[in-house]
Amino acid sequence: MTIYLYNTLTRKKEEFIPEDANNVRMYVCGPTVYDRAHLGNARSVVVYDVLFRILQLVYGTKHVTYIRNITDVDDKINAAAKAQSITIQALTAQMTQWFHGDMQALNVLPPTKEPKATEHIKQMIDMIEKLIAHKKAYVAKGNVLFSVKAMPEYGKLSRRVQEELESGARIKVEGYKKDPNDFVLWKPADAEDDSSSVFDSPWGKGRPGWHIECSAMSTQYLSQNFDIHGGGSDLMFPHHENEIAQSCGTYPGSHFARYWVHNGFLTVNGEKMSKSLGNFITVKDLLDKGVKGEVIRYALLKTKYNEPLDWSEKLLNDAKKELDTLYRRLSKQEQQSDDVSEIVNALSQDMNLPVAISALHANPGNGLRKMGGVLGILQQDPDTWFKGTDSSGIDIEGLVNARRTAKKAKNWAEADRIRNALKQQGILLEDRPDGTSNWRRE
Ligand code: AMP
Ligand code: ZN
Repeated sequence: MTIYLYNTLTRKKEEFIPEDANNVRMYVCGPTVYDRAHLGNARSVVVYDVLFRILQLVYGTKHVTYIRNITDVDDKINAAAKAQSITIQALTAQMTQWFHGDMQALNVLPPTKEPKATEHIKQMIDMIEKLIAHKKAYVAKGNVLFSVKAMPEYGKLSRRVQEELESGARIKVEGYKKDPNDFVLWKPADAEDDSSSVFDSPWGKGRPGWHIECSAMSTQYLSQNFDIHGGGSDLMFPHHENEIAQSCGTYPGSHFARYWVHNGFLTVNGEKMSKSLGNFITVKDLLDKGVKGEVIRYALLKTKYNEPLDWSEKLLNDAKKELDTLYRRLSKQEQQSDDVSEIVNALSQDMNLPVAISALHANPGNGLRKMGGVLGILQQDPDTWFKGTDSSGIDIEGLVNARRTAKKAKNWAEADRIRNALKQQGILLEDRPDGTSNWRRE
């Protein structure tokens, strides 16, 4: 089975050939843990979770290494901790825990390893020292800066040429930068910084820049050259461009990631969902409203991963209805087929999610469980799916049993009364030939 991926680096759909089929390596930029994950963040995580699942299917579970980091040192984290008057560690520990809970609700597999930036400061310092030694970086007023001019191939991912960058650069440039495009590798601590965000370095107390975190952690776990690097398309420039510059600058002759995959934005009325625009919905907001994690996941998977996905109530309602249809079909199947070829074929074509979802709906039902598994859906027992969690406080099971007793006693009026009472609560009964009944929410 050959996987094809759209490679942002070449702007082409390419055959995926791993460097080592016994250890296929993928790195994806993980969350900056200063707030709850919103649906845009979730889209990115879910998309690469599907890619992880396909790679595991094609190469074998043991032969795929997937690294998704946690950015737990960053200016936004410092600002959020300060605003809440808590330590950075307290904030990042809480946010990481919430992130894990939310992603579990979306049935996201844990990556092979989830390194934290704060636990890899030494590796970052080592890289920065090498960059200084190779004249790709310089020290200025307690900062260490990457010298973009020292990397002639800078811009190869985003296809921005250096002159273009300069004309677009902000007018106000920090005086210590030799070139407006130079970016921070290490920055000095502020006097009022919480001690948990301050680290010793050869350049004084401070903290790393965001870009060097990913270069250091990807090299640590995947080596200087690896297969796939993923993230949202907002990260292509400058974050990913800078990662390439840092890594190739540290290890001359290396190429860093060979395939660059970027997921499209999740939008609201055409605008990117983001914290700064205030148009965000968190995963938790929806879970708290009683929306099932699997419904959110399915809604995120309905669109091609690298196209914009406009979020709406309708999208969510349709996702619920479509999953209900699939679960209903699943409940009628006793024999399950193991044939997942149709869905794997669709996903191997640059993760063609819409075709994969259509294949599910075209299936008579006997392959649904296994096929759904490739997308991380349809793994629940259909009874559990339709029952969901009851927060209304009514004793549904008790009423269903009472109705069965009434039916046995041929007390049809009582049986109908109970059926109607449940219907008023939005609960539908489906009678089975053996006299028992299944219930589900409308
Ligand atoms: P952040 O926590 O902002 O660093 O983002 C974590 C991940 O979510 C990155 O890969 C971003 O590219 C991705 N991301 C953020 N907002 C969106 C969005 N609206 N749509 C898709 N991906 C997003
Ligand atoms: Zn990154």
